[in-house]
Amino acid sequence: MLLLWKCQDCGWHGSDEEIISFADPVLEGNIWSICPECRAAEQFDNMCDEPECKQLATCGWPSTESYRRTCFEHSSFNKKREA
Ligand SMILES: [Zn+2]
Ligand SMILES: [Zn+2]
Repeated sequence: MLLLWKCQDCGWHGSDEEIISFADPVLEGNIWSICPECRAAEQFDNMCDEPECKQLATCGWPSTESYRRTCFEHSSFNKKREA
């Protein structure tokens, strides 16, 4: 399952797949996550995994298919949504 991220520096919004992984040449085993837009490192906020949603992922919960990371609105904790 892909997680969605937002760059704190430039506002870029995308998935794990688009983020550049850069292996630290000095510190072995250390991987940097780099923004594809502005090249800022490790400046990501975890976003709700609903593709159109622009809110921070504040809830983690197991759905029927996978584990989800969403905002409160899209989470199973929001009972209003099912009503
Ligand atoms: Zn950026
Ligand atoms: Zn959401």
